Amino acid sequence: MIVAIDGPAASGKSTVARALARRLGYRYLDTGAMYRALAEEALTSGVPLDDVEALALLAHDAHIAFEYEGDDPVYSRVTVHGRDVTRAIRTPAVDAAVSAVARIPEVRAAMVAEQRRCAEGFDVVVEGRDIGTVVFPDAEVKVYLTASPEERASRRLRDREGAGYREEFEKVVADIVARDEADSTRDASPLKPAKDALTLDTTGLTVEQVVDRLARIVSERVA
Ligand code: C5P
Repeated sequence: MIVAIDGPAASGKSTVARALARRLGYRYLDTGAMYRALAEEALTSGVPLDDVEALALLAHDAHIAFEYEGDDPVYSRVTVHGRDVTRAIRTPAVDAAVSAVARIPEVRAAMVAEQRRCAEGFDVVVEGRDIGTVVFPDAEVKVYLTASPEERASRRLRDREGAGYREEFEKVVADIVARDEADSTRDASPLKPAKDALTLDTTGLTVEQVVDRLARIVSERVA
């Protein structure tokens, strides 16, 4: 069973996908973390974000891995060539760099192949931007989560404060709107709902309400 969850930046996808994976006992696959890991590796190793060839090579060679602890279906660490980047991929610098890396078709081809490989043989909850449209067009359940930019900025600010960063609300709204624009207007696999996806506006809904709804949809599919 593949549950595909797509949506714009900070739409609650990660929180919902993690909780849903734990509820169902399905493996959680965070495709955004893979693009982030690649962007972080580019920043760390000094690869310019406009050097398409170097970034394509980096994507081809980068060994990005998720590590799981015990029977938790949600990864505890993400590594690039064995280097732990779990925290480093959530910085404002990576936020600002990731769309430039993710718009390159060769980068996407390498990531998509790896994502399909990671899901092989598992029931999975996969989240990203192009899961229902490109990565798993035959996924049994496809959901497109969205929320207003202000609600998404509030969520992002709470996450950031939890991680020890302080940011201005207006700047976070502007960053989110800019990343939405970059992700949905790019040529390669732009962010958009799959034709057969259920679109769910999570503004004003709790995580629990959204997870309950999705768990019900999955169980109807399994039955
Ligand atoms: O979901 P998250 O905010 O972690 O994703 C980070 C970035 O990775 C997105 O803004 C987008 O540019 C890229 N991405 C993508 N395709 C995916 C997942 C993420 O292009 N399937």
